[in-house]
Amino acid sequence: MGRAFVYVILGGGVSAGYAALEFARRGGYSRGELCIISEEAVAPYERPALSKGYLLPEGAARLPGFHTCVGANDELLTPKWYKEQGIELILGTKVISADVRRKALVTAVGETISYKTLIIATGARALKLEEFGIQGSDAENICYLRNIHDADKLVNAMKSCSGGNAVVIGGGYIGMECAAALVTNKIRVTMVFPEKHCMARLFTPRIAEYYENYYTLKGVTFVKGTVLTSFEKDATGKVTAVILKDGKRLPADMVVVGIGIRANTSLFEGQLVVSMVNDGIKVNGQMQTSESSVYAVGDVAAFPIKLFDGDVRRLEHVDSARRTARHAVSAILEPAKTRDINYLPFFYSRVFTLSWQFYGDNVGEVVHFGEFTNSSPRFGAYWVNKGRITGAFLEGGSREEYEAISVAVGRKTKVTEMAELGKQGLAFAVQE
Ligand code: FAD
Ligand code: NDP
Repeated sequence: MGRAFVYVILGGGVSAGYAALEFARRGGYSRGELCIISEEAVAPYERPALSKGYLLPEGAARLPGFHTCVGANDELLTPKWYKEQGIELILGTKVISADVRRKALVTAVGETISYKTLIIATGARALKLEEFGIQGSDAENICYLRNIHDADKLVNAMKSCSGGNAVVIGGGYIGMECAAALVTNKIRVTMVFPEKHCMARLFTPRIAEYYENYYTLKGVTFVKGTVLTSFEKDATGKVTAVILKDGKRLPADMVVVGIGIRANTSLFEGQLVVSMVNDGIKVNGQMQTSESSVYAVGDVAAFPIKLFDGDVRRLEHVDSARRTARHAVSAILEPAKTRDINYLPFFYSRVFTLSWQFYGDNVGEVVHFGEFTNSSPRFGAYWVNKGRITGAFLEGGSREEYEAISVAVGRKTKVTEMAELGKQGLAFAVQE
């Protein structure tokens, strides 16, 4: 059994949705020539909602409200939209092998799907505690968070835990956003992570201190510089406590784990060039892999960043997924007109009433600025490398202010005096 398409998008997440919209806008295909194959049972949705609106105790976001591409204030792509556009959604279907020489994919039920052009949009999977030698993370009250299925499990766990204790493992994005959601759901939270401070890969100690103090005021306890070693469980297999390396025991009615991700590249191992630096499928500025009929986008793709002198990066953020997806479709349909991607890395988060944005790269010397206060915070930092702005972070900014810091980074604005930059703070970017 088998089917043949001209264009196949493998994966049904954020980048798949944005690629579909770009195909529809450009109209470069006929009905039945384009499909999305996704292991998930639902049409592409805005994954960031899962750790924010989806976890709210009241008025929570639910499908179809957050299908792509509403996250970019664009059209809501419901299953009906795909039908109208003649794009086939092959849902609940896992691809288990790929042969890029034969241009064919094989699904878990043994169907062969062939293509002329393939867009790999398989994203990433959450790392499991088992991969760090800790057993038992399949318990019903231990939650990971990557897809809507995980989010439903988390919502159910929170419902049966109101007033109880949660332990959050990991101090990255999932840890920080889920801890805030748990508190909002009236659950006491202890966060455990190995680093000296939260969001260690991005935040400076000073920025981290601000958020940790804010979380502490909300009732969150931080246990830093250590990891868990095992779980205590009851007769039914539910976790009742987390045991840490130093022997400390934390009672737990539920556990949330966010210890990073791995790009889903395994289908293409040995077939496509993989970036050694950060383990993604290596693509050029057209999002094209080492095989000319295969493109890769989103979390799985390692692509050259012009702003960083062509340094190849694999980014794990939604804006990059959206833009690389649209860029790939443009490159496929109009190769002569499509220049190499010129992407400015952009990350953000929203927790409680806080909201920050970051642009660029966090390398070089750091200068902080602004008001690190609890009422109406408005602070940030610039990273300066070789006399130029390479990165900028801002909490509590306005739309214009975020735009201003992004422009300062995008232009690699020259800095002559570090002390003066600190004095001027946000005004440095705004006045530019
Ligand atoms: P994904 O959206 O992960 O989609 C991959 C798709 O491929 C999935 O549908 C998967 O089922 C499918 N797939 C994989 N392998 C196969 C296979 N073999 N066969 C069939 N289908 C397959 N980023 C931000 O910038 N801001 C945020 O606030 C933010 N919040 C987030 C919150 C959560 C809870 C999570 C998990 C991520 C968040 N991110 C955020 C990151 C952002 O969602 C990702 O960068 C983005 O989803 C990447 O898009 P993608 O299409 O590459 O991968
Ligand atoms: P992150 O990489 O952000 O953070 C993982 C954290 O877990 C790090 O602090 C890491 O420390 C720590 N860690 C690693 N191993 C262990 C361990 N054995 N025990 C305890 N802690 C450990 O990954 P997340 O899981 O938080 O997020 C997953 C993905 O979701 C990311 O791609 C992220 O970009 C995305 N996401 C993005 C959001 C946003 O942009 N707003 C929101 C939610 C998710 P170390 O650094 O030392 O390895």
